[in-house]
Amino acid sequence: MGRSSDAFDYQGILTHEFGHLTGLADNFVLDFTKEVQTMYGYASPTSKVVNGVYYIESYQLRSIEADDIAGKNALWN
Ligand SMILES: [Zn+2]
Repeated sequence: MGRSSDAFDYQGILTHEFGHLTGLADNFVLDFTKEVQTMYGYASPTSKVVNGVYYIESYQLRSIEADDIAGKNALWN
């Protein structure tokens, strides 16, 4: 199954929503020097900029990054 340009990526979105279930909030700071954190709050089927807000492609939320782990550890350790 390939990626469609007009569909959200379920794996990416579910990974992000699972982060909310563990207590993490959306992160609205995008650091272009790193991989996109799963908890970044703006995603869309395709990357785009709207009113100065950068929307990443939703599949980029699939992988869990260092900032996500740090947030989880702060809440649960
Ligand atoms: Zn969210």
